[in-house]
Amino acid sequence: MGKVIGKVIALEMHMNDRYSRQVLFKEIGAEGQKKLSQSRVVIVGCGATGSALASLLARSGVGTLRIVDRDYVEPSNLQRQALFDENDAHESVPKAIAAARQIARFNSQIIVEPHVADLTPANVDSLLGGSDLILDGTDNFETRYLINDYAVKNSVAWIYAAAVGSYAATMNILPGETACLACIFPESPRGTVETCETAGILNSADTAFLGRLDERTGGVGGGSSSGGMPHLPGRLCSSGG
Ligand SMILES: [Zn+2]
Repeated sequence: MGKVIGKVIALEMHMNDRYSRQVLFKEIGAEGQKKLSQSRVVIVGCGATGSALASLLARSGVGTLRIVDRDYVEPSNLQRQALFDENDAHESVPKAIAAARQIARFNSQIIVEPHVADLTPANVDSLLGGSDLILDGTDNFETRYLINDYAVKNSVAWIYAAAVGSYAATMNILPGETACLACIFPESPRGTVETCETAGILNSADTAFLGRLDERTGGVGGGSSSGGMPHLPGRLCSSGG
C-alpha cells in the first residue's frame, strides 16, 4: 500500500514539471498557470480546428474543457484531425468521445466533458453555460450565429475560426469591446460557400493560424482587444445587448 502511495506521489511530483516551460514564459507565470487551471473553455465542433484547439488547451492545463460535436470519426478525417486514429474511424466513435479519450492519455489531470450533440437554440444555454471562453471549431454559419448571440447576450468572449482550401481566418469577439459577428456580417453569407467537402483542405491550413489565436487572445479568459475588430457604433452588440 505504502509503495503504491509512494509511486503516486512520485508521479505527481514528476507531473508538477508538466507546465514548467510555460510557467517560465513570463506573460503566463505561476499566476497565469493557476488561472488556466481554473478556466472553463467550450470548444464547439471537434474537426481539424477543434482537435488542434482541444489538444493545445488540454496540454497547456486548461482545467475544464467541454467538447461539443455531433459527428462520428470517418476515414477522411484522419488526414488532419489530430485527436483521432484508425480505430476511431473503423468503429465510428463519436468525435467528442474519441477526443476525450485521447486527451486523457496525455493529460489526465484536467476535466473533459464530451457532448455528442448539435448546438441548437434549445440546448445552447446548457452547452455554453458557465464558460470563460467559447472557441469555434464549427463548419457552418448557422452555429456561429448561435454562438455569437449567446456570447453577446452573456458577455462571454469567443473566437471565430474557419479554414478551407489553403487558408484560414480568425476573429476575436469580446462583447462590449469589439465588434461581434453580426456587426460585421449582419446576414449569413449567401450563395455557394466553399467548404472542406467541396474545396478540400490542407492540414497545414487548420493549424497555421493557431499561433495567432494564442498571441491575440493573450491567454484563456483574459484577452486584449487588439485582435478584434473595432466596435461599430449602432450595431447589434453596441446597444447594450
Ligand atoms: Zn455586434
